[in-house]
Amino acid sequence: MTVPRCPICAAPTAPAHTPFCSRGCKDRDLLRWLGEGYRIPGPFVDTESLDSRSDTD
Ligand SMILES: [Zn+2]
Repeated sequence: MTVPRCPICAAPTAPAHTPFCSRGCKDRDLLRWLGEGYRIPGPFVDTESLDSRSDTD
């Protein structure tokens, strides 16, 4: 028989917090999703080239 496990820490899940084992892991999962949302790569100003330009001048 397969026991459902928490996707965060692999502990047996608690019925009150399915599919997680505790409220802490539920929050961690939510924070992980939010964190990935913030990490969207995009065009960024290259401050390094700006610095070297002012140095050589
Ligand atoms: Zn857990």
